Amino acid sequence: VVGAGFFGATFANRATRYGKKCLVIDKSDHLAGAAYDKIMYGNPVCQFGAHIFHTKSKAIWEFIQQFSEFNNYINKPKADTGDTIYSFPLNMMTFHQLWGVRTPKEAEMKLRDVRVPIENPKNAEEWILSQVGEEIYQKFIYGYTKKQWMREPKNLPVSIVKRLPIRLTWEENYFNTNYQGMPLDGYTKVVERMLEGSEVQLGVDYFSKDWKKVAKHIVYTGPVDRFFDYEHGELEYNTLRFEHKQMTGDYQGTAVMNHTSESVPYLRSVEHKYFYKLSHMEKHYTPDIKRWSTPSLVTFDYPVPYAEHREPYYPIRDDINSKLYNKYMELKKNLSHVTFGGRLGEYKYLDIDQTMASAIQKFRSVTA
Ligand code: UDP
Repeated sequence: VVGAGFFGATFANRATRYGKKCLVIDKSDHLAGAAYDKIMYGNPVCQFGAHIFHTKSKAIWEFIQQFSEFNNYINKPKADTGDTIYSFPLNMMTFHQLWGVRTPKEAEMKLRDVRVPIENPKNAEEWILSQVGEEIYQKFIYGYTKKQWMREPKNLPVSIVKRLPIRLTWEENYFNTNYQGMPLDGYTKVVERMLEGSEVQLGVDYFSKDWKKVAKHIVYTGPVDRFFDYEHGELEYNTLRFEHKQMTGDYQGTAVMNHTSESVPYLRSVEHKYFYKLSHMEKHYTPDIKRWSTPSLVTFDYPVPYAEHREPYYPIRDDINSKLYNKYMELKKNLSHVTFGGRLGEYKYLDIDQTMASAIQKFRSVTA
């Protein structure tokens, strides 16, 4: 298994459970791939962007519980648009803050007025305009999306923004899923426990050796274009740089704040203690001078050009890259002894639960 992220760990877990012998290698010096976290100021802190576990699948929720207890954190981020902080994702509270509407019907009437009639929205911009109109597009989507993807939203696929809920209820949960929470001692521990029973070697580059003699079957979770030595050219990714800063007191009073204005260089600020201590659940605010001097770790996510910071995080599934990926798919088909998986191996914007489900399903098809 190449890569000790969630795909590799889930696959290895299933394989060892079914009596197979697994060697897991990873070129980095840590487990859990992009979900790698370590304890800082008493809480797990994701080093490469906050991950909030959420799933619609009862089976995946029950499966992951074997490896960790989860708390009941529910993600309710806020969007700082520069002048005003709004409830986000778009819900009745956002529409109320924007337009003063008080009922779903009033919101629907207003949306009917502002929607731009576009029959077949072909890109992210057209899709948002056709759903919620120009004002919301400008306030919440344009700047954020352009910062994150470093291209105009009209040059991005609809699928990117279709992830966002748009609700005519007061529900502020970011995810449309039944199950959600943070693993109490972090994602790295979850992966470590999943890999019990496998041999793990860190700091090992797959491309340094011919593994065919070592393994009957290879599970590859690295970038798919690298596997084929960039035969058809390089796929594009989008990347972020994370600045972890010690702030004091309650920096922002919530775990996740989106900064949607183009003039703020970071996308998100994440105050980690709110994922874990559930300090937002305090019954009464205690006026306490000490609270304002307690250290609190905040991470700022800065989009940076991939050419400068070659850490592939998000596959860019636009037309050009999709066509290129299809060529790699053709090459994959000829290799029955290799399974490709995960965000990089499948060149797909997968969440942790989807990654795990895909690993379980691919393990089944390999052993069928
Ligand atoms: N997005 C936006 N404004 C926001 C949050 C998200 O325009 O405040 C857009 C952006 O294009 C992003 C997409 O919606 O890529 C999906 O957001 P999500 O939070 O799912 O992205 P993730 O953080 O998981 O990469």
